[in-house]
Amino acid sequence: MTTTKFLVLTSRNPADPSDVLLEIPAPGAFASIDAVDRARAAQQGWLLGGAAARSAALGSAADAIETAGAELTALAVREVGKPLTEARAEVARTVAIWRYYAQAPYEPVGAVHETAVGAGLLLTRRRPHGVAGLITPWNFPFAIPSWKAAPALAAGNAVVLKPAPEATACAVHLAEVVQRALPEGVFTVLPGGAAEGNALVSSADVVSFTGSTAVGRAVARRGAARGIPVQAEMGGLNAAVVLPDADIETAAAHIATAIAGYAGQKCTATSRVIAVGTALKPLREALSEALRALPVGDPADAATVSGPLIDQHARDRVCESWHGLCALAGGTVPDGPGWFAAPTLVEKVPSGHRLLREEVFGPVAALLPAENLDHAARITNSVPYGLVTSVHTADLSTALGGLDRLDTGMIRINAPSTGVDFHLPFGGAKASSHGPREQGRAALEFYTSSRTYTLTPP
Ligand code: NAD
Repeated sequence: MTTTKFLVLTSRNPADPSDVLLEIPAPGAFASIDAVDRARAAQQGWLLGGAAARSAALGSAADAIETAGAELTALAVREVGKPLTEARAEVARTVAIWRYYAQAPYEPVGAVHETAVGAGLLLTRRRPHGVAGLITPWNFPFAIPSWKAAPALAAGNAVVLKPAPEATACAVHLAEVVQRALPEGVFTVLPGGAAEGNALVSSADVVSFTGSTAVGRAVARRGAARGIPVQAEMGGLNAAVVLPDADIETAAAHIATAIAGYAGQKCTATSRVIAVGTALKPLREALSEALRALPVGDPADAATVSGPLIDQHARDRVCESWHGLCALAGGTVPDGPGWFAAPTLVEKVPSGHRLLREEVFGPVAALLPAENLDHAARITNSVPYGLVTSVHTADLSTALGGLDRLDTGMIRINAPSTGVDFHLPFGGAKASSHGPREQGRAALEFYTSSRTYTLTPP
């Protein structure tokens, strides 16, 4: 649905691809360099304006997003097919993110230490890098740009955001809203695709990327070659582990939403369900039933849980992933316009199958049996990714005992794998993340570097 190779950015409604939201020429690589230059010119004034001014501006940005909530929500529904209830929740979360970071300019930026020898003082002070280049995916078109931009701005950086082409209209509108509260030049949106993103990595002072692992690793390599800090949040192949003592109905309800909510297009979606011992039989039934009952359809309907996939290519990838496998639920695509696919659970997946190696990014999961918790942990860890695992059990001590063996960055007990909080560090292991964590206080550290001052009495 998006073509950058012909230097045109096209964004369509994935529930009705004949509805074109936006068709604009791609600005090209030089526009990135230009945007970074303009941001650099604005950054010092933003920093020297002081903590109170930055705090007030971020607070006003939060208010402006809240005021524009209904139109932003409608745009996310239309442009990226996010179901209405989730789109509303994303906008509310975006407001909360800006409010949270509006307090950050007042936080301590360093520490005072005794000198090792003699009189004097040692001070550390964190300073912004300059211009933060932010490269984002389409699936959280407001929250992800915001959880990168707000801490970067709070710390005194200027930002240039290069959104995914599929979410250009959302990003442009978010920028219009936020720019009302900020001085000119400190928050710029640069529409574009790979060429513009690449040029941003070549010219920014710090880069925060979220997207696929292949692109994230290439961005990290280019950033490393320039010697700038880079963080990359990438894909997932997340497991839900269900123990025999779990409340199976509740676990099935949680896992069904984690598999197929927003058509499975979240890095934290569940794509492998590991049933330990006797949990297999009841879970097989309950989860199949829960997936069949999940409302699929028009994302503008408040009852919809699973809307369309982002484009035809995404739906083809989903259909290929289940091809030839035994489907307990789904495995079909509905007639009519839009890139919909039924929430799907498959079993008897042969080892080495792509569902057990690659992120499909759709409403499909494999049901896998495990003999015990140890075996479940080995299966969980057997993939190249390590973002999040959910564990479902009535026995917290068993869960906690088993958790140390999991090599995922986030673990959620008796909760869906999706839906993590924004004020704690976010990130994973292996192919899921590169570099320091984002969100929470971790983000403030990423967007600054520490200087050490030695004060010696004259
Ligand atoms: P993508 O990797 O295709 O694109 C991400 C961004 O990178 C876009 O803005 C794109 O235009 C840009 N880009 C593409 N090529 C580039 C290049 N050569 N240099 C610089 N920038 C380039 O990902 P997507 O399809 O937009 O998003 C889906 C992916 O994002 C999934 O893999 C999903 O797991 C991941 N994701 C991860 C998280 C997380 O926090 N871990 C969150 C959301 C999505």
